[in-house]
Amino acid sequence: MADKLLVIDEGTTSTRAMLFAADGTCLGCEQAELTQHYPAPGLVEHDAAEIWERTLACARKIVEQAGGAGAIAAIGITNQRETVVFWDKSTGEPLAPAIVWQDRRTAAMCRKLKQAGHEPTVQARTGLLLDPYFSGSKIGWAMANWPQLKQAGDRLAVGTIDSWLVWKLTAGEKTAGVHVTDATNASRTALMAIGSGHWDDGLIDLFDAPRAALPEIVDCAGNYGKTTLFGAPIPICGMAGDQQAATIGQACLDPGDTKATFGTGAFVLTQYGARQPTSKNRLLATIAWQIGGRRAYALEGSVFVAGSLIQWLRDSLKLIATAPETEGLARSVDDNAGVYLVPALSGLGAPWWEAEARGSISGLSFTATRAHIVRAALEAMAHQAHDLKTAFAADGADWKALRIDGGMVANDWLAQDFADMLDVHVERPAFAETTALGAAMLAGVGCGMFADLKAASAMRGKIAAFEPRMEVAVRDVRLAGWERAVRSVIDAAR
Ligand code: ADP
Repeated sequence: MADKLLVIDEGTTSTRAMLFAADGTCLGCEQAELTQHYPAPGLVEHDAAEIWERTLACARKIVEQAGGAGAIAAIGITNQRETVVFWDKSTGEPLAPAIVWQDRRTAAMCRKLKQAGHEPTVQARTGLLLDPYFSGSKIGWAMANWPQLKQAGDRLAVGTIDSWLVWKLTAGEKTAGVHVTDATNASRTALMAIGSGHWDDGLIDLFDAPRAALPEIVDCAGNYGKTTLFGAPIPICGMAGDQQAATIGQACLDPGDTKATFGTGAFVLTQYGARQPTSKNRLLATIAWQIGGRRAYALEGSVFVAGSLIQWLRDSLKLIATAPETEGLARSVDDNAGVYLVPALSGLGAPWWEAEARGSISGLSFTATRAHIVRAALEAMAHQAHDLKTAFAADGADWKALRIDGGMVANDWLAQDFADMLDVHVERPAFAETTALGAAMLAGVGCGMFADLKAASAMRGKIAAFEPRMEVAVRDVRLAGWERAVRSVIDAAR
């Protein structure tokens, strides 16, 4: 019986295929690493052909584990956002390297557009800022610098990773693939007017993007086409960018519901409802999902350094041997002994946006030990989250509670510190792969397994809860110390 869901979770460092039962149980996972290409400082590329081959190989293994394509009701896709792929519609082969979201090659172009006064319009229409992060400038750069793209004429297809995967899944030997992108991925290109859900001609002109090569924007749940690559046909029924999929996987379905993913960096999204948000605090406005043509919006804030700080303590400072050790060390001391760590190792993200800022460890005295520094590093996570919470609240999206996920939140001390410092109820699902789960929920809605996302959210499963129990005076001292530390880092950068 076709009652299982196949999820393709195409990340930045690896691609995965996972199998889910309708109750949310994960029945299998296959993973393959992806090669990172760094052709010059600041440039990051992927080989789209490799992404496809490795994704297909993982999916094939999972279909086999499922007992064949006949057991799978639908496919859901979630992916690294903003990365752009260029391919030939007649051959289905890439025409150029994929430019990855981390790539900064369009920094000068974005600066010029900013100086020319375009940022307010871009922000009003797209919810984004003028930054190389988003796809629009990457596409414009590629069209201007890679002649084979213009030479391909109307054979050129451009899309984000979701589009590329759907094309490859649906293309036959002699037939073209389906060329679509879902509204969440489209909302990260800076080419879509997020209020309308359509490509915006003004933005397409601004970035010099090829209008005819862009995919059609579709809902996050529906039926986009079938793949016959695994034997019996399987419909593709769900799609969303990774952070949006995690928001759905954490069942953030009502305005104010918030999820925070603490992996290498941290991404926080707050569900905003049907109204398009406008941030006055340099948060991003984005589409959380679009189903039945109706959009739900979210505010998004990202912190550049989260788990990577722990890796730095381990690999560069050699203060710890493993990341989980941080928990015992933090517990071994009563407080931070006045030590504050500002993890601006690659600048400060939201809400500060201070690219030139650099990190600091301050307040050192002879009482400070390795444990205090490690504790200060963990405390920096809740401190950064606190700054984000303040910015979200100022934009009309205060957090009612916080749903956490990502590699770092396995740390119970950290989870409790979030509850204490943010003074909110914190939830951590037992099944940590919320991104894949969100894509499974969307595929389940798209194929009719669930009536809507509310019904699908039963897949989320068991939750551990953390309640605030810190005295106000203790919290105030911590926040005052952090504010001083972060101020001095910002002042030094200006
Ligand atoms: P990503 O998806 O960005 O690759 P993950 O969600 O897998 O990252 O999280 C990995 C990060 O979490 C690493 O940077 C690691 O240092 C950190 N980490 C893992 N376990 C712990 C722990 N118990 N305490 C603190 N940090 C941890």
